[in-house]
Amino acid sequence: MDYETLLNKAFEGRSRAYAPYSNFYVGAAVVMEDESIYTGCNIENASYGATNCAERTAIFKAVSEGHTSIKAIAIVGVENDYTYPCGICRQVIAEFAAADIQIILGKNKKEYIVKTLDEILPGAFTKKDLGK
Ligand SMILES: [Zn+2]
Repeated sequence: MDYETLLNKAFEGRSRAYAPYSNFYVGAAVVMEDESIYTGCNIENASYGATNCAERTAIFKAVSEGHTSIKAIAIVGVENDYTYPCGICRQVIAEFAAADIQIILGKNKKEYIVKTLDEILPGAFTKKDLGK
């Protein structure tokens, strides 16, 4: 899976974002261990706390279909800038991915940067800390 293909999937996800309150549209696409891809968008709610991020939407879709190992995730948000995952999403990524997972942050369909989870969530608390 090349980065640009995954970014295109993330943009597809963003096109379905439900963000009538913030008007901040985010899309994500995850590649799982079997190369299956799941897209996600942010889904807001009038009760703001019930809002779900694009990254978690994509990951929860994958997990609910039996896939629990993420190989890579692409995230696109505001036009022409990089949108990093929030703290909660970083923690959820840590549950289902290795520390060296590729996190592709897209500025647009051609410009992107690649980070690892360890770079954006150093010292993550994971199942290893629980002896699992
Ligand atoms: Zn988030």
